[in-house]
Amino acid sequence: SNALSSVRTGSSVLNLVRSYSKSASTTKLFIDGKFQDSQTTQWIDVYDPATNNVVTTVPQATKSEMDAAVESSKNAYENWKNTTVLTRQQVLFKLQALIRRDIKKLAANITSEQGKTLADAEGDVMRGLQVVEHSCSAASLLLGETLPNIAKDMDCVSYKLPLGVTAGICPFNFPAMIPLWMFPMAIVAGNTSIIKPSEKTPGATMLLMELLHEAGCPPGVVNVIHGSHDAVNFICDSSDIKAISFVGSDTAGQYIYKRGCANGKRVQSNMGAKNHAVVLPDANRETTIDQICGAAFGAAGQRCMAISVAILVGESRNWIPDIISKAKKLKVNAGCEPGTDVGPVITSAAKQRILNLVESGIKQGAKCELDGRGVVVEKYPNGNFVGPTILTNIDTTNDCYKEELFGPVLSIITVDTMEEAINIINSNNYGNGTAVFTTNGCHARQFVNEIDAGNVGVNVPIPVPLPMFSFTGTRGSFWGDLHFYGKQGLNFYTQTKTVTSMWRKGQSVTNGSASMPVH
Ligand code: NAD
Repeated sequence: SNALSSVRTGSSVLNLVRSYSKSASTTKLFIDGKFQDSQTTQWIDVYDPATNNVVTTVPQATKSEMDAAVESSKNAYENWKNTTVLTRQQVLFKLQALIRRDIKKLAANITSEQGKTLADAEGDVMRGLQVVEHSCSAASLLLGETLPNIAKDMDCVSYKLPLGVTAGICPFNFPAMIPLWMFPMAIVAGNTSIIKPSEKTPGATMLLMELLHEAGCPPGVVNVIHGSHDAVNFICDSSDIKAISFVGSDTAGQYIYKRGCANGKRVQSNMGAKNHAVVLPDANRETTIDQICGAAFGAAGQRCMAISVAILVGESRNWIPDIISKAKKLKVNAGCEPGTDVGPVITSAAKQRILNLVESGIKQGAKCELDGRGVVVEKYPNGNFVGPTILTNIDTTNDCYKEELFGPVLSIITVDTMEEAINIINSNNYGNGTAVFTTNGCHARQFVNEIDAGNVGVNVPIPVPLPMFSFTGTRGSFWGDLHFYGKQGLNFYTQTKTVTSMWRKGQSVTNGSASMPVH
């Protein structure tokens, strides 16, 4: 295949023995409304996590291709910013209908590159689709402020105006939702957008570009470049790019935040997480156990809002055997197989990292109550499967507590009081999500009041806010000030122009004064 003959990063020996699926093709760039082959000599393989077959190869876009993307975005901006918001909304209305039409196709692509189950992949698309739908009400959301008569014959208005060319850098775990957190809000506000999908899961973005094209979006309003570090550095350094939206790991997020800000850009950086669920003994036992298992092991624990720690308070410590037996029932298999609960993790390296961390956690004193490390999936012997794994006897110094495992591993901590649980959570570096399970309103209220996290659930395990709100991680989970989507998302993608006007009948030139006008 042409992919095989290309020079790639990584081990050339491995490349030769790798199995290529019949449908393997190269992923294209999307520049100025055209899908085009990259001229690069550097390609990255994308694997199906269930088989480790290569499903496509992604180019590391060349400097001149990335320059062309920026040039196209700059040119498109000149017209796009002057289109009416109603026209821009129309494109988004059409996009939302097309995403609904093709949701199964998008989900199938996500499952083949990311590994999650088809049902979960549809959820990935749906949560992004909701942002598209929300952006269709931009005409109201972009209203500015007005105040007449701020002085005699003087009025003041402020406008929310676009920034120019914006960029989005995406993670692997939500191949549709995260790009859809970014470009719809950016473009409906009048910006243009350059998306760099994850090099591990580029396919959903490309399908979305086909749909955007079909929706009649003018060339250059959204461009897609591919790559890894060079593409990221290019985005951080390009003086024509005014804002960067990032979602991914701490290492990349902190780096991009610092480099982007140093270059005078706006940056919103959503990073890692360690999400705790607190279970009070008065919680509804069956529902809580179901919810925790779903949130810990669903998507193989690779959601930024996955619950990776359960803190059982008081008598709820007796629920551990029920949690284990529920987790045992979850079916580990390829995401495309019916009835699968837990698919593979993204790469064999990610699997190895999870196994190593569990190993060192056990060495540090954790007890492995349910061990998914040796799970066998007969039909998919080469997949990166890890079965649900439960660790107890764990404290906050254990590696499995300290690190974000991003796999189907649940650590269980037991404490005597809710105050202790709150203290553990508030002492953690991250502030992405958390949840409390209780039937007592006073306890729930105290928890909500005292907890320091961005997204808080009360009897809701994965409280990802709907797009009329914003996704509000705090502390180590977020750098920046304006969050993704909702009002904050539109504020991120707009700047304010404030106009003070005086219209006086028969206005004549008055004597100028050197002192500060105070109206
Ligand atoms: P990642 O940081 O490895 O990759 C994200 C993007 O950054 C990719 O496009 C990649 O090309 C680029 N990148 C990776 N390493 C880089 C580096 N050293 N320098 C510059 N760029 C780099 O993240 P991932 O593994 O794809 O995603 C998983 C992470 O994302 C987890 O930590 C998860 O918690 C986090 N996440 C957070 C949220 C949130 O909203 N807080 C949502 C989804 C995922």
